[in-house]
Amino acid sequence: MSRDFVAVRRVAVRRVALRRVALRRVAVRTAALLATALLTACLRASGPSVSGVVDAAAGQQDALRAVYLGSGGWILEHAGNTVLTGPLFTNPGLVTTGLLPIRSDSVLVDRYMSRYDVSDALAILVGHAHYDHLMDVPGVARRHAPSARIVGSRTTANTLGTWAGVQDRVDLVDDSAADQETVGRWLRYGDRVRVMALRSHHAPHFDGYTLYRGTRDTPRTEEPRWATDWVDGETYAFLIDFMAGPDSVAYRVYYQDAVAPAPAGFAPDALIAERPVDVAILVPATFDQVDWHPEAFIENLQPRYVLLGHWEDFFSPMDVPTHSMLLTDIRHFERRLERVFDGEWWRPDRWTELRLR
Ligand SMILES: [Zn+2]
Repeated sequence: MSRDFVAVRRVAVRRVALRRVALRRVAVRTAALLATALLTACLRASGPSVSGVVDAAAGQQDALRAVYLGSGGWILEHAGNTVLTGPLFTNPGLVTTGLLPIRSDSVLVDRYMSRYDVSDALAILVGHAHYDHLMDVPGVARRHAPSARIVGSRTTANTLGTWAGVQDRVDLVDDSAADQETVGRWLRYGDRVRVMALRSHHAPHFDGYTLYRGTRDTPRTEEPRWATDWVDGETYAFLIDFMAGPDSVAYRVYYQDAVAPAPAGFAPDALIAERPVDVAILVPATFDQVDWHPEAFIENLQPRYVLLGHWEDFFSPMDVPTHSMLLTDIRHFERRLERVFDGEWWRPDRWTELRLR
């Protein structure tokens, strides 16, 4: 054997060995990634989370009461005027959601919604029509908030269609919605609440991919069976004004139920110049799928307070302790928030009740 051949063979053997090491590394990395993804859901419960009652209003009468119901759900109440945002109590598991039919569980909806009296709620705001924002809304609207209007997109209305028994109660926002440059039309609820939809866009869930994409142009006559039937449709954020008088705002809330690529989801600059937002409810989950979330929203809304919603894993039942959503580095989001926002902010556990000045 020539010395050259031995050398070539040695190189070839080393290459094979290196390739094996590389493959092993890829396998180990993949396993680690999967393990991290699973563990993220189980272990991450750190951060400035709060539970119980947070009174930042020092007993003031004119405070905003914000109760976090988990997922996209909030009760927002000011001076006896109540607005709900689409809650989810059914929480089908991850595997169930992916492989099996899902439907709203009326026992769970009644068990959890009955904790609060929302019978005089004026409206239920729905930012997009994915199941985790809309599936439990008919049950809440029919049995707990019987006079509330359901505020959402054409796809939201058509997904509820005729099967849900709420077809006369949906207010379409598509033609009234605003963006950063254009002031939209206020929808009025009672004499002390007005709501403006803000054109937004649903950020991808992972790797640029958005689950359950689509719009619905005709009313469904049957209840959706699969998670894939609940397509997102047009996505909106909302400005919610609790009024002190016909033209004077007592409290201004911004609500989003999905991360958005700015300036999608922005409030009109002209409105914010007149009156910045008092409380901005922002979504951390999947924030890294877009640029400048939350920074751009802090700049646009100039909020006094920030609340994080829809941050926790909603694939586990409501009565198990909350932990952050799969694949979202929530501490990273929070560090970025703190870099641009020096006001008070909270990441509430489910059922936390905040009273804000
Ligand atoms: Zn969604």
